Amino acid sequence: MQGLIMDVPLTITSIMQHADCNHGDQEIVSITTDNPRHRYTYAEAFRRTRKLANALSEYGIKPSDRIGTLAWNDYRHFELYFGVAGIGAITHTINPRLFPEQIIYIINHAEDRLIFVDPFILPTLEAIADQLIPVEAFIVLTDDENLPSSTLKNIMSYEHFIGTCKDEYSWPDLDERSASSLCYTSGTTGNPKGVLYSHRANVLHSYASNTPDVFNFSTGDAAMPVVPMFHVNAWGIPYASPMVGVKLVFPGPKMGDGASLQALIEEEKVTFSAGVPTVWLALLNYLNESGKSVDSLKRVIIGGAACPEMVMRQFLDNYGVHVHHAWGMTETSPLGTVNTLKAHMEDLPDTELYRMKLKQGRALYGIEMKIVDDDNIELARDGKSSGLLKVRGPWVCSDYFKMEGKNDVHDQDGWFATGDVATIDSDGYMQITDRSKDVIKSGGEWISSMDLENAAVGHPDVVEAAVIGISHPKWSERPLLVIVRNPNSDLQAEEIIDWLKDKVAKWWLPDAVEFVDEIPHTATGKILKLELRKQFSDFTFDI
Ligand code: ADP
Repeated sequence: MQGLIMDVPLTITSIMQHADCNHGDQEIVSITTDNPRHRYTYAEAFRRTRKLANALSEYGIKPSDRIGTLAWNDYRHFELYFGVAGIGAITHTINPRLFPEQIIYIINHAEDRLIFVDPFILPTLEAIADQLIPVEAFIVLTDDENLPSSTLKNIMSYEHFIGTCKDEYSWPDLDERSASSLCYTSGTTGNPKGVLYSHRANVLHSYASNTPDVFNFSTGDAAMPVVPMFHVNAWGIPYASPMVGVKLVFPGPKMGDGASLQALIEEEKVTFSAGVPTVWLALLNYLNESGKSVDSLKRVIIGGAACPEMVMRQFLDNYGVHVHHAWGMTETSPLGTVNTLKAHMEDLPDTELYRMKLKQGRALYGIEMKIVDDDNIELARDGKSSGLLKVRGPWVCSDYFKMEGKNDVHDQDGWFATGDVATIDSDGYMQITDRSKDVIKSGGEWISSMDLENAAVGHPDVVEAAVIGISHPKWSERPLLVIVRNPNSDLQAEEIIDWLKDKVAKWWLPDAVEFVDEIPHTATGKILKLELRKQFSDFTFDI
């Protein structure tokens, strides 16, 4: 027997219409290339979104067409999120920090018909324009007055594009399973792969994000996504916020600038933010040096890479901000786990408390999670056994765009292999111990490169640390520790090994330490181990 409940499709359009109707007066504040403080309301945003929808339709954009964006976090990008998906087309967000070959690859692979681009990013496109085969026109996110001169053909300003269009638009009824947006993984191995999100996945992800142990959003909040809108939909914040009427604060091109972030937080009374660890280091440095504060800020979600303990402690002890560790991937929309403590953990002694807080957290409702061994046998949730992390759920990718059936994206039971190695404890807290390809196999046992890196960056003279496995005649692989030290320090190998001695098992201690000026990173700020391995491909241990 079927339930007698309305079958209303879960679409991004419905989020927009809900916000327009119920939170029309809520503000959206942005820094853009042409305006240091643009300010308007949700009602105005969605009025302009309807103009955009008319402009796209009049241009001839059809359902399922892909529309590329190369843009920072700001109000025009927000309008594109809703306008493009609303007409049934697909918002393809592109990371401008990717290598030019990768940008060429993904624009051609996605067959983007139009590209909406920030004026700052225009030169990147000019250099590769003749290789962007499917692109018919470039629309620059500014007005005619601020439109830079360019070598690109078929270029116009965004304001011109939507300018004379009507602000009435009849949004089509969409199938909730139809595609809404597309984001390519940054491709630490091989070509980037496209994750094609659906309306339904985004709506369910937003519902889950708004629950108290995740974003805990309400109308009283002001959210500043410091995670870029070109990376996994800014972790879904632009969808979750209008669902409950949160004020949105967009830092535009100033995302890595501690002073601008602090000013925005203070002036706009930001209560919530989210981003990868590196941006918080920039903000904390600025706060420590300037003596300024971030009084309104209550909660920060940090993920994308392991959050250093020092970041959590400084935020709480010096500025009263609670940091919650989170884990996710492009393939998981991205939220998989967030760390909030259970009531019985609040009074744990300090060391124990931080040991818990540093775990990547518990699964959101909707995400199932397990760890398995090499034979795909599920391992115990005892906080000790570590294995390949698998997930499944209504916002986890089932296949990659235009590669359907070509990869073993999930096993026969529908579980997606994340490529992360993790433990899960009896309370359900997951902790990443490594990426499966980064684990070091020494004498048949696993050494976690990430645990070693985390322990090494705890040393005050270490700016960044990376550990890779180097082949070894006796043990098959042994760890090499690569360090960027503080400019004023002359930290030596023996000192750092000494420092690690009471922090990791004795047989994990790196066999060698190398000091470098810089460690290579991916476009999303992660350590590019592939490149590092190449750099040290001739390295041998003194045996
Ligand atoms: P890409 O895969 O394109 O590099 P993603 O953002 O999808 O970019 O990266 C997802 C990966 O980032 C995860 O599989 C995991 O290895 C890592 N990651 C994400 N969050 C955390 C975290 N909190 N701690 C450690 N690693 C993390």
